Amino acid sequence: MDDEELAEEKGAMTAPPKILLIENDPDAANEIRAALAGASSSSFDVEWVRQLSDGLVRLSKRGIDAVLLALSLPDSQGIETFDKVFTAAPDVPILILGGNVPEALAKEAVQRGAQDYLLPGHLDYSLPRALHNAIERKVVEDALYVEKERAVVTLNSIGDAVLCTDISGKVTYLNLVAEAMTGWHREEATGKPLAEVFRIIDGPTRKTARDPMEMAVEQNKTVGLTVNCVLIRRDGFESAIEDSAAPIHDRAGHVIGAVIVFHDVSAARAMSVQMTHSAQHDVVTNLPNRVLLNDRITQAISLARRQHRPIAVIFLDLDRFKYINDSLGHATGDKLLQSVSTRLLASVRASDTVSRQGGDEFVILLSEITHPEDAATSARKILLLLSAPCCIEGHDLHINGSIGISVYPEDGADAETLIKNADTAMYHAKESGRNNFQFFKADMNRKAVERQSLEGSLHRALEREEFLLHYQPKVNLNTGEITGVEALVRWQQPERGLVPPAQFVPIAEDCGLIVQIGRWVLREACRQARAWQDAGLTPLPIAVNVSAVEFRDKGFVEGVRTILDETGLEARFLELELTEGVLMDDAESTASVLQELKMMGVHLAVDDFGTGYSSLSYLRQFPIDVLKIDRSFVNQITADPDDSTIVSAIINMGKSLKHHVVAEGIETQLQRAYLQTHRCAEGQGYLFSRPLAAAQFAQLLQSGMTTVVH
Ligand code: C2E
Ligand code: MG
Ligand code: MG
Repeated sequence: MDDEELAEEKGAMTAPPKILLIENDPDAANEIRAALAGASSSSFDVEWVRQLSDGLVRLSKRGIDAVLLALSLPDSQGIETFDKVFTAAPDVPILILGGNVPEALAKEAVQRGAQDYLLPGHLDYSLPRALHNAIERKVVEDALYVEKERAVVTLNSIGDAVLCTDISGKVTYLNLVAEAMTGWHREEATGKPLAEVFRIIDGPTRKTARDPMEMAVEQNKTVGLTVNCVLIRRDGFESAIEDSAAPIHDRAGHVIGAVIVFHDVSAARAMSVQMTHSAQHDVVTNLPNRVLLNDRITQAISLARRQHRPIAVIFLDLDRFKYINDSLGHATGDKLLQSVSTRLLASVRASDTVSRQGGDEFVILLSEITHPEDAATSARKILLLLSAPCCIEGHDLHINGSIGISVYPEDGADAETLIKNADTAMYHAKESGRNNFQFFKADMNRKAVERQSLEGSLHRALEREEFLLHYQPKVNLNTGEITGVEALVRWQQPERGLVPPAQFVPIAEDCGLIVQIGRWVLREACRQARAWQDAGLTPLPIAVNVSAVEFRDKGFVEGVRTILDETGLEARFLELELTEGVLMDDAESTASVLQELKMMGVHLAVDDFGTGYSSLSYLRQFPIDVLKIDRSFVNQITADPDDSTIVSAIINMGKSLKHHVVAEGIETQLQRAYLQTHRCAEGQGYLFSRPLAAAQFAQLLQSGMTTVVH
């Protein structure tokens, strides 16, 4: 690039301002052109027109940096001339040539938007400068305008509310969001004290919150506002807000006002309240959950400690809930839980906490008791209220509960221990017949621990094949012949040795494992009976014990059928022993299940007869073959005839129902003789044989009942 090109390039970059001169008088025009040309060789590029119309045409083509305008033109006169030019090009600076019009008119044009007016006679000196100034001022004005416009658009499009004040605390500005949130329009609010427009209080105390602007000005820095701040709109509507305030400075750095930025956090705050609630409450019943309960107990303990008062924790477990939930469905189960929670709330004071621990367990904190006995009163009340039937979706549901109670400070000094001990006591209540309550006692703990560890290993016992069966013969008391055999389950536990059924069957019933264990027992007993038959031993009926939980299991009858099929044992060789409790529970469905079994050819026996409460009429409706008189009655047979009358009464009762009567637990000859004379022809007991392992029993069967003394 040579020098010339370089100069051209430079020239193009800084092209001289284009001036449109609208002036009819050629002399005046020339004078002006001369003045501009004289100023500096290339500083202005002047285009001259003589009429307004020509000027407007030129302006419409754009590219003009400033206009020099004479107001008196052939096609337009006076202020109108200015107005037309200004309308056509509002963003181009206009200077009025004041030569042939009154000064007042020129001034009026300035008021209407002209940059300046020029008096004749001073043109040489002032014109170039006036033009430069006008153009520059316009540029600055434009930039300012853009900046301001940008600020306004920004302020009105952000989601935050913005409010400004001057140093005296008077409102000077609100953006649209601030208008909506305060309920004040900018024009009305401007000049009003901040406190009037921006009314804020502290949510919880409802006291006026500190003036944010004052703080910002005082500390001369941006400050966050009080937490829990609530803004009261002009019409009284309240919204939770979060905000900050910052001071505004002038060029010298002095504070001249403040800007407050705030936004609505009602939704966020409501959400956080909701989340806190969900984290602390049970979904089904809306009662406090474990987390909140622990908190409440901890609080109650610290208060009770200072006031030397007791508090009590009640652990309630619903009996039979699982059964209802499984048979009628979860929706019904949930409704039942809701109805229980309503009853519980009705049975305690407002200051007490009723919580749901999950499943069918509820824990109630009694925080205002005077004596531990008060807890017993509450427990009684709860059991009573629970015992009324709940009518849910057409079902009349009867539900009971077992309750355990622990008391601070005796039974624990923290929430966890108190709940754990109340839970332990609840287990004891369950064991002692359900629908009652028990206070925690120190020695319960060991048993609970033991029970838990048993339950743990019980879960693995089936797959590890730790169960086995022992067999006890049933004997004809007159002839000593073996007439049958009862299969009795044993648990060969690696650490504990042989565990008797009384120690694990109830646990297996509670946790539902009994169904699988029972199925194993039945299969093993049938398999064994068939194996003995196949080995050529006298075919004997084999009795298997069935617990209530197994019997109620939907697949029970089918299970029996399948096992008989699989093992090939004829149904007439199987006898199922049920306790009275099983029969009494739900007469209708019991009868139909028994009927099905009966149709299959299976024999049915009532075990432990006499210990339940079954009435004769009750028993009469069931297709029962055998009554097994409980050991406790046989035990009472002594030399004293008075002690024994109850046994003969029971034998007669059985006979009247035309059932076979079998006596259990015969240990002495005296007992055997008594039973014989009272026409009880069959029995079981240590007198004849203890329960034996399969191989030993086979030997006994082969050799005959040698222990029998005639
Ligand atoms: P149960 O069906 O009444 O069985 C009789 C229990 O009395 C057996 O106890 C037996 O060993 C014991 N016994 C027999 N003769 C005498 C005697 O002369 N004197 C004394 N003191 N006891 C005698 P075991 O085997 O400990 O079983 C206890 C209970 O456990 C059984 O009572 C039965 O209700 C239950 N059970 C046993 N096996 C099973 C089973 O496979 N499934 C279920 N669900 N329960 C079972
Ligand atoms: Mg039995
Ligand atoms: Mg029995």
